[in-house]
Amino acid sequence: MIAEIIVDLANSQVDRPFDYKVPKEMETIIETGSRVIVPFGSQKRLGYVIGLKEMSNYSNLKPIASLIDETPVLTPELLELGHWLARETLCFQVTAYQAMLPAALKADYKKWLHPRNMQELETEYPDLLALFEGGSRVEWSVLQRNHPDLLPQVTQAIRKRVLEIKSAVEDRAKVITQKAVRSAIPKPELAKHLEHTGRAPKQQAVIRYFMELSDGEERWLHEVMDALQVGRAVIRALVEKGILLEYEKEVYRDPYEGQAGATSPLPLTEEQARAIAPILEDIDAKRHRVHLCHGVTGSGKTEIYLQAIEKVIKKGMEAIVLVPEISLTPQMVKRFKNRFGSQVAVLHSGLSQGEKYDEWRKIHRGEVSVAVGARSAVFAPFTRLGLIIIDEEHESSYKQEEAPRYHARDVAIFRGRYHQAPIILGSATPSLESYARARKGVYVLATLKERVNKQGLPEAEIVDMREELRNGNRSMFSVSLLEKLRERLKNGEQSVLFLNRRGYSTFVLCRDCGYALTCPHCDITLTYHRKTHQMKCHYCGYIEAVPANCPKCQSPYIRFFGAGTQKVEEALTKLLPEAKVIRMDVDTTQRKGAHEKMLKAFGDGKADILLGTQMIAKGLDFPKVTLVGVLSADTMLRLPDFRAAERTFQLLTQVSGRAGRHDLKGEVVIQTYAPEHYSIQLSAVQDYLAFYDQEMVNRKRRGYPPFYYITLISVTHPSLARAQAVTDQVARYLRKRLSNQAVILGPVAPAIAKIKDRYRSQCMIKYKNEPELATALRNIVEHYQQAYVKEGLTLSVDINPNAIM
Ligand code: ADP
Ligand code: ZN
Ligand code: ZN
Repeated sequence: MIAEIIVDLANSQVDRPFDYKVPKEMETIIETGSRVIVPFGSQKRLGYVIGLKEMSNYSNLKPIASLIDETPVLTPELLELGHWLARETLCFQVTAYQAMLPAALKADYKKWLHPRNMQELETEYPDLLALFEGGSRVEWSVLQRNHPDLLPQVTQAIRKRVLEIKSAVEDRAKVITQKAVRSAIPKPELAKHLEHTGRAPKQQAVIRYFMELSDGEERWLHEVMDALQVGRAVIRALVEKGILLEYEKEVYRDPYEGQAGATSPLPLTEEQARAIAPILEDIDAKRHRVHLCHGVTGSGKTEIYLQAIEKVIKKGMEAIVLVPEISLTPQMVKRFKNRFGSQVAVLHSGLSQGEKYDEWRKIHRGEVSVAVGARSAVFAPFTRLGLIIIDEEHESSYKQEEAPRYHARDVAIFRGRYHQAPIILGSATPSLESYARARKGVYVLATLKERVNKQGLPEAEIVDMREELRNGNRSMFSVSLLEKLRERLKNGEQSVLFLNRRGYSTFVLCRDCGYALTCPHCDITLTYHRKTHQMKCHYCGYIEAVPANCPKCQSPYIRFFGAGTQKVEEALTKLLPEAKVIRMDVDTTQRKGAHEKMLKAFGDGKADILLGTQMIAKGLDFPKVTLVGVLSADTMLRLPDFRAAERTFQLLTQVSGRAGRHDLKGEVVIQTYAPEHYSIQLSAVQDYLAFYDQEMVNRKRRGYPPFYYITLISVTHPSLARAQAVTDQVARYLRKRLSNQAVILGPVAPAIAKIKDRYRSQCMIKYKNEPELATALRNIVEHYQQAYVKEGLTLSVDINPNAIM
């Protein structure tokens, strides 16, 4: 028997299956999708079995060294998906497999120092003997760290062949076990023993305890000891008498306790019923369609998800729910746990590696039917998948920014097709791509226009910061916002202040007239490059000088824009000294759990104002918040990204949704230098359709998605000239290969032109239909990854990139 194996090395030369001999004793247990350890060159590496066969075209095959998994970790579906991912996103196959598995299943490659000859060691290097006291080997990195003084001797001993270094592959997966007990004999016999243990009341208590259980029912050892207040010796005595059995049993590290049945399905509103009907039909018929559920915040989308999942579980199938990492709050998780309890596994980045592995194993073993998690949960190894839900489908975090550069939506659709299962995409502000597909009938569209509680959406006031300046107010708070904050303080209500710092100080804006410098060719905000003191376009390379006065109104108040959260906090405490403020940004939330603690404090009413960056925009639900202030809507609007208007609209809509979610009516204040911009105007009245129509016109005119596809090629190199030259070669090659419909822009230096002493250069391709593109890209990747790795060149391809930065 021969196994085809993908070796755990991300390298273009080994990005193909290698044949290995399967040792006789392994033949009956090895399966495709299992991990193995194989000799590779002079090392041992981890590998994934992707196929088994009788014959190989190669002779002198090496045998597999050992088998790690008796149960494969990759199902046939996931193996196929990995192949597809590698092809679609131009990554190594092993990179795709790694992305699908929890980190605990990745290999640790360790070097160990072993004595070759103990006697010689004792006589020639007595000082080194102590190293091996605890065992027969010592890890090389530990030795280096703890005994640097011994290294010269060790090196000598290695040369003399008294010591040797062996490398070993180790599975990181650690299973935790605990002692469990159960009765070893049937109940009638227990009763007999009860009579015979006359003078040991504690032993009697234990026997009585197990007589209450059914035959063979098990309990944790500590549980029994706690319940009966007996010591370890009592149990041990019973084990020795053959009355009880004691053994190790696996435990899961479960960070959330489940309260199944704490909520039950609500009678649906008319809108909800209309939206869920075709989804339930698809689940029944085992039909794959994509449903776009476009519903305003609070319209009851989550209830639709819950009831669709319920149907899936009833049919003996399984469901995946994806939510953005940032909204994977205990609040959200509880909604699923409260309905389905221990049938739910939760996967998110706040869990330890071990906890994640435990949750993954529950899915792998079929012990749960629902997986709730962030992006990578889309790879949950279910085998009877009946539904995949992507909540807040427009969120950019569904696209992975490193290889494999996949979008969870595409993976979900692959899996939905494979299992003939429907997909639900839910959002109050769908991505233009998804909404356009729904309009064309590619997706099934369901619209929910009303909040379940019939509360109107909060009223938004747009404040023109240019006017504020003209009236002599130079602070970052408008008169209106300050007044409203004071009102809240007086009434004991809460406020949320939102400051977007992304894109801070990269663009130039006139504070008098709101004019921002944009590229005449691309309709994209120009980026300020500090080094050269120039304004540049990221897309096409257009350059102009930084003006001293506004080109439109001649005002000298044209400047680099933005202020940090800390500055805002300082200003706030000066203006409103009595207000208690919680500031949430990357600096204050670095420690694990800080994020949740601060939100809890705010929820408990320990502060009047929550001030934060985009991390507070989503999912928060506090009854006492009646005011939301957006300090500068412009920072996001002026990002040099063709999606800037869309992101602004989404964000402002989300933020506004935080106010007045319960009985108290909410108000929103949006401060901006571009009050006339449609994305600000339309988010204030929450008119998604009008925004969609307007934005689609712009995208069409400028040739951006969803009318055109975009692919971005990024090159880095220690030398700027070299990075540019290679990008130029790539651009020229593409111009030759592609049709004249395709637009190839570049080479261009991006805003962040240098990262870690490596210069970056980019080339962007805009296209509609280019059958040659896939092959051309593969050729480029293969050529540059092989030929120029040594000189330190990297080249990456991002198909449908999130942002072009
Ligand atoms: P969305 O996910 O669209 O923002 P939610 O599912 O959070 O909306 O619903 C908003 C609120 O309305 C929640 O408190 C939810 O429990 C409640 N809700 C949802 N559907 C119903 C219903 N059919 N009847 C009563 N309350 C509902
Ligand atoms: Zn101006
Ligand atoms: Zn341009």
